[in-house]
Amino acid sequence: MKNYSQIIRHSGNASLFDILDVSVTGSLTGTPIHIHAEGLRGTGKTTIIRAYKEVLPKINRIKGCLYNCDPSNPHCPEHYNLTSEEIEKIGVERINMPFLEISPSAKKGSVVGSIDLKKISSKESPEAALLLGTIPKAHRGIVFIDEINRIADTSPEIVDLLLDAMGTKPGRIQIEEAGLPVTEIPVQVSIWAASNPDEDPGPLENIRRQLSDRFDFTVNVERPLDTCVINRIFSDEVLNVVNTATIQKTKEFLEAKKNINRFKPTQEIRDLLASLYVNYGIESLRYVEAALLGTKIRGALLKRNPNIEDVIFITRYALRHRVEMKDLNNILQNLEEKKSLIKKDSISVETSIQNENKLPDSTKVSEINENKNKNSKTFSFDFLKKLLQRFVPNAESAKSSNTSSTAPNPSIKAPPQKALPMDKLKITEYVKTEEDLIK
Ligand SMILES: [Zn+2]
Repeated sequence: MKNYSQIIRHSGNASLFDILDVSVTGSLTGTPIHIHAEGLRGTGKTTIIRAYKEVLPKINRIKGCLYNCDPSNPHCPEHYNLTSEEIEKIGVERINMPFLEISPSAKKGSVVGSIDLKKISSKESPEAALLLGTIPKAHRGIVFIDEINRIADTSPEIVDLLLDAMGTKPGRIQIEEAGLPVTEIPVQVSIWAASNPDEDPGPLENIRRQLSDRFDFTVNVERPLDTCVINRIFSDEVLNVVNTATIQKTKEFLEAKKNINRFKPTQEIRDLLASLYVNYGIESLRYVEAALLGTKIRGALLKRNPNIEDVIFITRYALRHRVEMKDLNNILQNLEEKKSLIKKDSISVETSIQNENKLPDSTKVSEINENKNKNSKTFSFDFLKKLLQRFVPNAESAKSSNTSSTAPNPSIKAPPQKALPMDKLKITEYVKTEEDLIK
């Protein structure tokens, strides 16, 4: 089993590292982020996921609490109504952020928990007690499920409780026992799953679309294609590496936690995500939620305000399981075009708008009809105008703040008079003699 420092990052697996980083930071800051890694056998997706166990930071919990109660926000039946003084008396301990696994053969009771029948039927001191399952035990941490597509196919009861645990942030689970009242507890667990869509029973989205949609991000992991990468994987240098990368990674998560509210998606980014949702007819609002969270956390990890590059990066994985591949490519291409527009100066942006305006009317109509539902070209034009209104004045004011109020609107190129149809005009207004033209 390879440790984190020994895994070579390459173009086929780099995005999984980046998305797992987002999820760890989310867990650390109180928001679970669910990840599904898809890839063929041998791509190393489960090795990477399991190696993350080493880099997870420590968390504080109320001493001895099996539910991992956060001392500042206790949730378990034993601690949720205690005062801070009472919690202080019990004490606080540091534990590793939980990383637990659910195996393909797991049963509902072991995943969610059960009522401890031994304690409740004790003659001396009968008491209600819960035997915690994997999910509540992993509160504030990670649960990994390998071969999620097989579980979705064979264990509908596990799928149902995953839907509950992943349905809201935080989620919830219900512990049931015949004849006893149902116990419901909140759970804040990031679910990480892996599957090989080419093996039986096929891709998760074809088996349980609802479960597939609960994952915030789906990442495709591929084999390395570069011989240099293969050589590095087996080099002595890598096999004997010390764990500096591990320590560094843990530090990054703690830094990102400190910065979590420092860099937020701007209104432009929020509008951009909302417009993608509306204009491309994306079915799930979870896309917008995942993308907003993802860009915010990426900002904290990279210590800068999230920008359009982060939107492109995050959208790739937030939409992979939610739209057809050709639509995803269209959306990404559209975003790439916007990125280059934002980078160019206002003159080139103006030129491209004028070019769009030069399209004959018939072309525009046919475009609208062609793209009635997924009108990328029309959308791109409208968006350009909005971008100009938002970004161009800002860009100019950044260069010279005292001219910003007088900066001309570059998109207006029309005569001041209102246009009238020909039949409302006198003939002399549109038929000119040679003399008139010379004047
Ligand atoms: Zn507790």
